[in-house]
Amino acid sequence: MPHRPYIVGNWKMNGSRAMLAEARAIDRAAGRYPDVQVALAPPFTLIGALREAITAMGVGGQDCHAQAKGAHTGDVSGAMLIDAGADFVILGHSERRKDHGESDELVRSKAEAALAAGLTIIVCVGETLDQRDAGDAVAIVSSQIDGSLPVGEVANEAAAAGKIAVAYEPVWAIGTGRVAAVEDVVAMHAAISERLTGIYGDAADKVRILYGGSVNAGNASELLAAPGVSGALVGGASLTSDAFLPIIAAAGTGEA
Ligand code: PEP
Repeated sequence: MPHRPYIVGNWKMNGSRAMLAEARAIDRAAGRYPDVQVALAPPFTLIGALREAITAMGVGGQDCHAQAKGAHTGDVSGAMLIDAGADFVILGHSERRKDHGESDELVRSKAEAALAAGLTIIVCVGETLDQRDAGDAVAIVSSQIDGSLPVGEVANEAAAAGKIAVAYEPVWAIGTGRVAAVEDVVAMHAAISERLTGIYGDAADKVRILYGGSVNAGNASELLAAPGVSGALVGGASLTSDAFLPIIAAAGTGEA
């Protein structure tokens, strides 16, 4: 694996201050696996408290607005995430694309705003089951890459600095217990990588491509060892340290 593995937990709309104990346990594990980059994206409400509770892992948001500030009730900007203690943001998750009608164009504008604010970004792409069954998975994901990834000078510099990641998350594998076949993951990551080279040139090598979709203790080793897989975006199995720690352990050698 050319990159330091990047294991990111997405707590979605779950979590309260009571769950900070789980986050502390995950953080202690992150400290024992310095060869793995571990991060958690809690709900906005917990970002500040999480930042104060941990020392070894990254803290991120699950979305941000494309504008830096203004009359956008209920939204937060990239600068606000940084102010709260975040260092990265997940953008274009399929749940946001579906629940909030987020288009590739909107995801791209959020991505460019987040980079301008100084955040690392994880841009999510992935096909639905109908699209895969129709044989369109690579075409759909390629067009999401072309439309959602940030472009321009700031983006090129961010790519070269390793501040852009892509998460390939087949929609049908998210929260369902169904995992994509490793050969399909490898093929899709290769297709994404080729597309990224078209956008960022040589700097595309620095863009990490994570797999997401029902990653757990039982399948993490095989997925993380697959060529072109630089890490995992993990939903359900990141909510408890018991479920998340084996995934971190599968990604690294650790000291423990
Ligand atoms: C996700 O939310 O990005 C995700 C991959 O969820 P899960 O691991 O629960 O499938």
